[in-house]
Amino acid sequence: MTRARADTPPDVHPSLSGLSKAIVDKLAKLGLARKFDLALHLPLRYDDETALCPIADVMPGEELLVQGTVTDCDIKFRPKRQLVCRIMDDSGEALTLRFLNFYGSQVKLLAVGNVIRAFGNVRLGHFGAEMVHPRFRVASGDMPVAQSLTPVYPTTAGLGQDMLRRLIARALADESLTELLPPSLLDALGLPAFGAAVKLLHNPPPDIAQASLQGRTHPAWRRMKFDELLAQQLSMRVHYQRRRAAGAPVLCVRGKLVSALLASLPFQLTAAQNKVLAQVRGDLQQAHPMQRLLQGDVGSGKTVVAALAALQCIENGYQAAVMAPTEILAEQHYRKFSEWLEPLGLKVAWLSGSLKKSEKKQSLANISQGEAMIAVGTHALFEDEVIFKNLGLAIIDEQHRFGVHQRLALRMKGTQPNKGAQPHQLMMSATPIPRTLAMSYYADLDVSVIDELPPGRTPVVTKLVSEERRDEVIQRVRDACVDGRQAYWVCPLIEESETLQLQTALDTYAHLQETFPELRVGLVHGRLKGAEKQAVMAAFKQGEVQLLVATTVIEVGVDVPNASLMVIEHAERMGLSQLHQLRGRVGRGAAESACVLLYQTPLSPMAKERLKVIYENTDGFEIARQDLQLRGPGELLGARQSGVPMLRFADLALDLDLLDAAREAAERLLRDEPEIAKGHLARWLGGRNEYLKV
Ligand code: ADP
Ligand code: MG
Repeated sequence: MTRARADTPPDVHPSLSGLSKAIVDKLAKLGLARKFDLALHLPLRYDDETALCPIADVMPGEELLVQGTVTDCDIKFRPKRQLVCRIMDDSGEALTLRFLNFYGSQVKLLAVGNVIRAFGNVRLGHFGAEMVHPRFRVASGDMPVAQSLTPVYPTTAGLGQDMLRRLIARALADESLTELLPPSLLDALGLPAFGAAVKLLHNPPPDIAQASLQGRTHPAWRRMKFDELLAQQLSMRVHYQRRRAAGAPVLCVRGKLVSALLASLPFQLTAAQNKVLAQVRGDLQQAHPMQRLLQGDVGSGKTVVAALAALQCIENGYQAAVMAPTEILAEQHYRKFSEWLEPLGLKVAWLSGSLKKSEKKQSLANISQGEAMIAVGTHALFEDEVIFKNLGLAIIDEQHRFGVHQRLALRMKGTQPNKGAQPHQLMMSATPIPRTLAMSYYADLDVSVIDELPPGRTPVVTKLVSEERRDEVIQRVRDACVDGRQAYWVCPLIEESETLQLQTALDTYAHLQETFPELRVGLVHGRLKGAEKQAVMAAFKQGEVQLLVATTVIEVGVDVPNASLMVIEHAERMGLSQLHQLRGRVGRGAAESACVLLYQTPLSPMAKERLKVIYENTDGFEIARQDLQLRGPGELLGARQSGVPMLRFADLALDLDLLDAAREAAERLLRDEPEIAKGHLARWLGGRNEYLKV
């Protein structure tokens, strides 16, 4: 029975009470915690058990329901032990049912003379049509066939389809599937009622076009997708508004330090840099925390924008923090910021996991006493022992590399002296996010884009070279280095094992040292100690090392303009954004630059497709868009790590119209009908409101 809407508080959904712990645990594995979650656990596909097929008409390759009388049933021992049963129906034809595993109880059910109804895949055996391991039961003469398609659910070991079907059927009967959204909204979008859509998807009528279910284009599917996207948009907007409600220091534009840095730069800001800088500067003057994501392709010049934002903060007497995900990148920022800010009389503190105890103590003291107005570091900056005197701005580079908790930790630093106030946040990313993804996953952020590269860059020529032509590549590296230029050699990515990855890097290094006795070859990888890494990078930067063998640790942010050649081994194993980032390490100086993608044949069709994308495109946004189409959003964003829950139903590559509609609806509901928004969020997210925790 459906409960009356009035006495059902929207945020109460019965738990899975009344079920054994074993079953509750299994359901938890599927992410099902509430009875209502069961209603949203939609089928993967359907079996059609709505009509009996005469045995004379069965076709190999089809899944069918048949019914017949058992004429033979024997345990055979050749080629191995198995139960072979034959049934015959009114059409006069026989079908074999074969069981390679079976119980005594099944043998009894299949006794000669019994009428059996069996569902399974038909194949052609030695003795005509047969079903292997069909689902079957004993049929009484006029037992009705199913009225709707039989759902097949995603499940987990130990939880059979029958059990899951029963649980879900019960949930559908018990749960209130009342409509929560206004009819006007649904009418405008041509979407069916919630309850009808859910019920249809679990038990579709036999005459439905199965393709529209499989392809998730049926209106019932669109309703589920819309609701899911609406929940996502609502929660991100709520999240955004909540953070906005917090106080933040007002950082006025004063200009002294900012102008001094601008005057000292050997270049002019691009129009795109000026545009985003204006947006950032405007945000910093607000009394609530900035939550801005600064996107810009590799090499678009985000760092200087960050430095100018930091100076605006410092001019107002507040500290700024700059954090990067890797030691190499953090170190590079430290150098850059020191080079830019120390001449202005500012002390830059450096903090990383590899500092000596005494150095660390000094840095911590400088930060807590306000001696250093700016601190640069790795996630060491998040640690509890780091206490800022008054943090006004946290800058986070390559933000998608950090977990949600780490970002939160840095925000909390600001509350130290001034409870309630939070630092402004500027996040930066060189992973271009297509518009659909940005709208979906960054709906809780304001986004600025640097859509222009500084002038004078030479485009990087990309070459695809098969592993068999490695010798030519080696000659090319030699020529470039002898010519006074520098090169990167990126080792293959080995996802399965970090140890193997390291070994491969060591082998490649040894091998290249042998190959190039006349060159100074360096090696940098993730396992090196901080100081060792710094030493190698410094030597490369100064030109002492000509060829740098590296794992993908150099993927983000490394800036050595004299390096004009990059070789990437086993490029087919790497992701597109990774390749794009790597390639962005060259083409930073005046010399003509090239990126050689070595690949191992034969290439899978997917690998071919991906290499084609990177070969044909230089624009990071276009690459990301195509990547989204090839791989889906999860991999592109690394969203699992960043804590953003994935969409189960909607597909951002296909459902752009629904996403647009959901975003509009979310804004309108929050403004005009907050109770409806609240009810929808409770229904969809229940206790697991991941979005709101951030
Ligand atoms: P990214 O956006 O990838 O972090 P960086 O901030 O490292 O890029 O900038 C790449 C390089 O371009 C740096 O050497 C930087 O000094 C230089 N750069 C930044 N802005 C400009 C500009 N407007 N004109 C010329 N060079 C610039
Ligand atoms: Mg950068």
